[in-house]
Amino acid sequence: MPDAACASLRIMASHIPALSLPDVPRTDSVFSVLSGFHSLESGVPGLSKVILDKLNMKDYGEYRAAVEGKVKGIPFRNYKEMFKKMEETFEFCTGCNKLPVHLTEGQTLKRCAKCLNVYYCTKECQRNDWPQHKKVCKKLRLVAIDRLVEWLMFTGDLPFPTEKWSKLAAEVKNWDDWLPMQRDLTPRLDGILSGANMATLWKNASRPRPDDSDLQRSLWRIQSEFLSRVLTVGMAIQHFGLDPYAKAFTVHIAGASHNETMGARLTDYDELNKMFPGHQGVEIVMVGPEVVDGPIVRPPLRAFGPRQRVFISAYRGLYHQFWEELVEKEEAAKPDLVVGFHPGFHASQGLIEGWLPTLLLLRDFNIPSCFTLYSEMELERSLQILLELEVHIRDSGPNPFTSQKPEQVQSSPNKTPVHCNSHYIRFQGLLPQEDLEGPGFDN
Ligand SMILES: [Zn+2]
Ligand SMILES: [Zn+2]
Repeated sequence: MPDAACASLRIMASHIPALSLPDVPRTDSVFSVLSGFHSLESGVPGLSKVILDKLNMKDYGEYRAAVEGKVKGIPFRNYKEMFKKMEETFEFCTGCNKLPVHLTEGQTLKRCAKCLNVYYCTKECQRNDWPQHKKVCKKLRLVAIDRLVEWLMFTGDLPFPTEKWSKLAAEVKNWDDWLPMQRDLTPRLDGILSGANMATLWKNASRPRPDDSDLQRSLWRIQSEFLSRVLTVGMAIQHFGLDPYAKAFTVHIAGASHNETMGARLTDYDELNKMFPGHQGVEIVMVGPEVVDGPIVRPPLRAFGPRQRVFISAYRGLYHQFWEELVEKEEAAKPDLVVGFHPGFHASQGLIEGWLPTLLLLRDFNIPSCFTLYSEMELERSLQILLELEVHIRDSGPNPFTSQKPEQVQSSPNKTPVHCNSHYIRFQGLLPQEDLEGPGFDN
C-alpha cells in the first residue's frame, strides 16, 4: 500500500470513533468505478460475475429463466451463444491489449494453441510475449478448462455428494486428510462425465472436449473451491475453541459476494454436519451488498438453530448496516464467528473505507474473525491494515484447505494464477496494550 494511503488510513482510524454508525461511508464507495478497476487488477473477478455482466443480466434468477427459455428478448438464444459471449470476455491481445474492435480489417485474434486461453493479434505479438507466457501457459490451460466446467455448478451436477467423515474434525488438517475419507471418487465423477450437461457443454463450447482424466481433475478442482469455504469455516470454529456439541451457534459471512451467493443452495454448508456430527445447530448468515436473490435469502434466526442442521440465511447490505438493523435490535443472533472470503480491503482506499466500520465493529465487539486472501502479498497488506487498526491478530498463514482451482488475473493473464482462500488471517479484539509498546511501528 502506498504511504499516502497508510497515512490517510491512520487519520481515518484515529478520527472515526469506533462504531459511529451514522457517519459511515456511502454504500456506493465499495462499488466505485475506481475500486472496481482496482479489484480487477489486484484481485480476481469471479467468473459468474463476468458471465452475468457479459450477458447483461442482473442475477442468477434471470440467468436461469433465460436458460430455461422462459424470458423473451434474452441476450443469448442458445448455449453456443452463451459460451461464445463468456469467451469474448477473454478476447484481447495478451501482448498489446488490443481488443477485437481495434483490429484492422481482415485481422482476427488467434488463440495460443497450447492453452487455448490467451489471444494475440499477430504472430509477432505472440513471439514477443512467449518468454512471459511460457511460465504460465500450462496452468492457463487448466484455467480455460475450469472456467467452462464451472458451468456445472449452475446446472447442479456439482457439487458431487461427499461421504461421512471417518475421522474427528481435529484430525483432518488438510486436503490429504480429507480426500482418503471420500474413498473412490471415480463413480461420482464418471456420473457427471457421462451426464447430459457435460455433453451440452462440449457440443457448444468453442474448443474440443478435453480427455476424461483432464475433466475429472477439473471437476475436483471446482468442487475443492466450493468446499474450501466450508472447511475454512470449520477450521476457524476449532481454532477459536467454539464447541459445536455444547450449544448452537451463529456464523456470519461478511461481504458475501455475488459469486458465493449466486445459485447458492440451502445445503451449501452441509459438510459441517459431517465435520461435527450430532452438533447442536449451526446458523450461517451471508451478508453483503452483492448477495444474489435465491432460496437462501430469508430472515436470519433470532436464536437457536435447528439441532444437527445447518440453517443458511442471507441479508443484502453492508455488514455494519446488517448489524445496526438486525443484530442490535435482536432480530438476528449475535455471531460467535465472522468469516470473510477475500474481503479485498487491501486493494484500494474505497474498499478500505467500505470495510472500516465493519473492521472496527468486529474489533470492538471482540468477535472471533477469520478472513481469507488470494496471495501472500494480499496477506501482508491486509495484516498491515489490521495492525494499523490495532486489531489483535491471532494467527495467519497459508490455508491448508485452499481451493485447488487456479484463477487467472483476467486483465493480466501472464501473472501467476492464484487460488481462492489460499491464505487466512484470524483475529479477535483489540491488540493488548503491552504489544503496542516495545519496538513497534514507525507512526
Ligand atoms: Zn497484439
Ligand atoms: Zn498458452
